[in-house]
Amino acid sequence: MAVIGIDLGTTNSLGAYWKDGKAHLIPMDGGFLLPSAVGYVEGEGLLVGAAAKERLIPYPEDTAASFKRFMGTAKVYSLGGRDYAPMELSAMVLEQVKRNAEYFLQEEIEEAVITVPAYFNDRQRSDTKKAAQIAGLKVDRLINEPSAAALAYRMEYGEEDRTLLVFDFGGGTLDLSYVECFDNVIEIIAVVGDNHLGGDDIDEAVSAYFCRENGLKPEELTRQEQARLRKLAENAKCALREQEQVEMELEAGGRVCRALLDENKLFEICMPLFGRIKELFVHLLEDADSRVSAIDDLVMVGGSSKLGVVKRFLRELLGKEPVVLGETDRVVAYGAGVYAGIRQRREEIRDMLLTDVCPFTLGIGVNNKANRDKNIMNPMIERNSTLPASHRDRFVTVSDYQKEIRVRIYQGEEYYVDDDVLLGEFSIEVALKPAGQAWVDVQFTYDINGILHVMAENEMGERRQILLANQTLSEAELERYTRELEKIMLPPIMQPQNQEMLACFLEYYENSTGQRREMIAAMMGRVTAGLSSGRKKEVLKAQAQGRAWLAGLQEAMEMREELLFDGELKAGFGGKPEDFGEPEDIEEDWEDGSDDDIDGFVEDWEDASNNNADDLMENKEEDSF
Ligand code: ADP
Ligand code: MG
Repeated sequence: MAVIGIDLGTTNSLGAYWKDGKAHLIPMDGGFLLPSAVGYVEGEGLLVGAAAKERLIPYPEDTAASFKRFMGTAKVYSLGGRDYAPMELSAMVLEQVKRNAEYFLQEEIEEAVITVPAYFNDRQRSDTKKAAQIAGLKVDRLINEPSAAALAYRMEYGEEDRTLLVFDFGGGTLDLSYVECFDNVIEIIAVVGDNHLGGDDIDEAVSAYFCRENGLKPEELTRQEQARLRKLAENAKCALREQEQVEMELEAGGRVCRALLDENKLFEICMPLFGRIKELFVHLLEDADSRVSAIDDLVMVGGSSKLGVVKRFLRELLGKEPVVLGETDRVVAYGAGVYAGIRQRREEIRDMLLTDVCPFTLGIGVNNKANRDKNIMNPMIERNSTLPASHRDRFVTVSDYQKEIRVRIYQGEEYYVDDDVLLGEFSIEVALKPAGQAWVDVQFTYDINGILHVMAENEMGERRQILLANQTLSEAELERYTRELEKIMLPPIMQPQNQEMLACFLEYYENSTGQRREMIAAMMGRVTAGLSSGRKKEVLKAQAQGRAWLAGLQEAMEMREELLFDGELKAGFGGKPEDFGEPEDIEEDWEDGSDDDIDGFVEDWEDASNNNADDLMENKEEDSF
């Protein structure tokens, strides 16, 4: 069964497949890009791709484009007297890609890996899957565009540990993602995006410049003139790749108008857009809790990343040379092709683990002391949390002898829940007690497939739960998901194998004294901090390091026993840290080895253990229903 990868873009869509250890693009529409446009022609019906895009100028009323921007909304496009949802139009684009792939590969395509922007919400993802279904494609997993770009990057640059900033500047959107790659894991740490900032905006800015130069009022141009001007602006911008200067010429308002465009002019025209890009960088780095110096490579993705002025701006902003992987508008599709290879379990590529972040905040509505009528959001899983994620909190009653607590689940960033999206709700009985004394624990668990499990448990140990999915699940699937979610519900620190490891450290700690004991405490602190970090990379490192340290301790113990039986116990053994490994050895594997003395270790450990204690004893007095 053939699997292809599809980059379902706002402006252009591409298909890719895996063969002979490489991803290849599927030829379409005389190149590799299929414009994501659908048009209606009287007597002929619907057209998809370049033919439809060409009709955008002469027949704007009967042509639809950029509909990905409205996925998941109720917007409709009217073509030839019939209404189409963005999902249906996307289905037509997907079907066209599928047909091209079948023609080119001469086999039936049943499954696709489709890329979506990392910030796409549940509804947008669900609509993308439905579009695929309509197009006759099975889609098990949608992958995020930045993850796809990172996969393409790794195919080119190898599998060293790298921190990437993926700059995806397309036709209608700009998405910035902070991505960490290590071993076989690609982890998106944070994403920010502006879905109204792209090549289209550059075209608009160039058009406005053209009008200014010629004393034209854009609103006085006919719709066709406006469309022609946009095309002229786009062509001029693209031509700057080969030419130093472009002369733009257009017949408008009954006369011939002209303007010159060069790199410096375009840079100036784009300044306001660059200002917005800079703000997005600030947001991203804040959300990732990082800084520019931590980024190894800035990976350029999307058609608008081909612009010399964009590269120049980024070079000046970040002091880094951007990495260009061939044609920037093909990178995501290549990545999707690589993932299609992984789906087919091709031997030559390693199975990559693509982790995801939650693009929006999930939480529950709680009572607002300042205004009883307006409940406020209590975030449970913050946006940009690594998935799968799980969080538990305690909530208390607000009225005396309140019988039950209503758990209302919301998605969104707004303070008042009325402005967020209500996903579901349920009630749970509580102990009959004065206000503030009865409680429930609420736990949110959100997995990589966009399935949210919310569970509430009262002090009598009774539970109520709800599973919210962006697709309809069969009974069997529901059961399977619930079982899988149970595993995630335990944070790494609570998982049995990790608890066992910490118990071993405790045992060594109990059996030691002095400096050796401090050293073990420091090791335990490091492992605990890593396991509680909430970052997959740190968790994996902590597990590996913990195991290595335990092996070292075991060896030291054995040596000690041997010496005891030889009757030659060396003086001081059991007291000096160097007897079981230099501090530097421990250091090496932790990137931030700033605290290279034992004191540093111990301090860290104290911090880590205090945090833990806080977590366990947290009492959400201030949040109540
Ligand atoms: P999307 O991901 O939104 O579908 P693409 O990555 O295909 O879009 O990018 C489309 C955008 O790239 C369009 O705005 C187009 O004008 C722009 N673009 C394509 N080629 C060039 C080029 N050589 N120079 C500048 N912009 C370009
Ligand atoms: Mg794109």
